[in-house]
Amino acid sequence: MPIDPTLPYDDQNIFAKILRGEIPCKKVFEDDCALAFHDINPQAPTHVLVIPKGAYVSWDDFSTKASDAEIAEFVRAVGQVARALGLVEPGYRLLANIGMDSHQEVPHLHVHIFGGKPLGPMLMR
Ligand code: AMP
Repeated sequence: MPIDPTLPYDDQNIFAKILRGEIPCKKVFEDDCALAFHDINPQAPTHVLVIPKGAYVSWDDFSTKASDAEIAEFVRAVGQVARALGLVEPGYRLLANIGMDSHQEVPHLHVHIFGGKPLGPMLMR
């Protein structure tokens, strides 16, 4: 079910539990501000999620409330993960779902990194 983006941060969401180490993930990167791990239901040969360690519901919440330093570190982390995965030369796609129309399911900001094959048109037609 898509989340209601107007609700406050729910610290029982699945990515909050991953950040606290309460459930496992297939980690590919971690630094002070971000964690990246493989999506449990991959939709491309490479499908990795990058999340900030701070409690932000969505890109909207993050871009409103996070500090400039957090935003810079997170954006750099996304780029670093994509480079480490070898995706720059073949190309890749970033995607962040925000709220109901996007069908965001997990209410903790995550950027999807897709790659590993030609990804086709940007949206389903
Ligand atoms: P979204 O629709 O943008 O909220 O995407 C949520 C993503 O989280 C989906 O691609 C799910 O497959 C993924 N996901 C859900 N639970 C887990 C988990 N425990 N570990 C890794 N990925 C997950």
